[in-house]
Amino acid sequence: MKFSDRAMNVEPSATVKVSNTAKAMIRKGIDVINLGIGEPDFTTPQLIADAAIKAIKSGKTSFYTPASGLPQLKEAIAERIKKDYGVIYPIDQISVTNGAKMALYVLMQALVDPGVEVLLPRPSWVSYKQQVLLAGGKPVIVETGDDFKITTDGLDDAVNHNTKVLVINSPQNPTGTIYSKEELEAIGNWAVLHNVILIADDIYGKLVYNQNQFYSLVQINDRIAASTILVNGVSKAYSMTGWRIGYVAGAPELISKVNSILSHTTGNPATVSQYAAIAALESDQSEVETMRQAFEQRLNTIYPLVEKIPGFKLRAKPEGAFYLFPDVSAAIQLAGVQSSGELVDRLLQEAHVAVVDGAAFGMPGYLRMSYATSLEDLSTAVERITAFMNQFL
Ligand code: PLP
Repeated sequence: MKFSDRAMNVEPSATVKVSNTAKAMIRKGIDVINLGIGEPDFTTPQLIADAAIKAIKSGKTSFYTPASGLPQLKEAIAERIKKDYGVIYPIDQISVTNGAKMALYVLMQALVDPGVEVLLPRPSWVSYKQQVLLAGGKPVIVETGDDFKITTDGLDDAVNHNTKVLVINSPQNPTGTIYSKEELEAIGNWAVLHNVILIADDIYGKLVYNQNQFYSLVQINDRIAASTILVNGVSKAYSMTGWRIGYVAGAPELISKVNSILSHTTGNPATVSQYAAIAALESDQSEVETMRQAFEQRLNTIYPLVEKIPGFKLRAKPEGAFYLFPDVSAAIQLAGVQSSGELVDRLLQEAHVAVVDGAAFGMPGYLRMSYATSLEDLSTAVERITAFMNQFL
């Protein structure tokens, strides 16, 4: 069979791949600790699950909703954005998607033509680059400094007349970095000046630790907000990865195009999941806070332990999301392996700990370790990695 160039060029998601391998090993009875995964380990809060059960029992399953989502859900999203950010979006400026991943995919489809360039920080989430390529566009990497953040100097180096979009993810996967208000203002003003559309991927916006402050690009000022497309979802904050609800908020004419694409691709996100998302967004957010505190405790416990693993070096302490991103170049040397990818394979096969190769995020020589798992498993995982590395000392 001859495949399209698109299909030939797309790479499978490294995070999904490592996680599937770990899950397959666990199914075979191997005691693997999975730090490869980007999903909270908590069960979805009961009040959210109950809303879905009620929707099923009352027969809200045998109809399509509008492709862009239930009006009640859009209202709940608009209300949440207003409460969290103080920014108002009428519901014709909101579209519900099958996870934030679909929101980002459909945006690339709506904005990117062949030859169009999309600026992506290095490191950044695995799917941005592939989604740009799937749209026929050109991903252009913007280098970051020691703090893993881009600056307007880096943007000046990357911009040209084909540049159309810049993706900002704060708190950032895989580093946990948060851009300050001033940094967002500088980046936002730069984008306005260069006529570059900003995509703010705020999926980790509620997972912020140790008194750090999160701001969304849409909160900085009206001009920046008008140049920004907001992407978010319920997966990470409400432990709802399996429900697949995300959303995009932006200008009415953009949302209209997004909706047309969705109407021919996904149709609507699962009706039951939409009712669950309404309950999540309308809830008093106390469950989010409980989970946030648990992540914070895990970060504060695990960070100093990972720092002590031979050959692992952490830069600034993560401020949000639920990942550590150690530089393992010294560990690669110590272990006598060729790459971070080989180290990941050895850790999985020999230490039975799954982590993701930094190369998947554009940074070979690094690993991404998720701390969205119990403190007990985290401690055991660090012990195993430490024991693995100790054999080379
Ligand atoms: N954006 C980032 C930075 C992510 O890490 C993820 C998930 O890992 C997503 C978007 C997609 O989330 P979902 O499709 O579950 O809403």
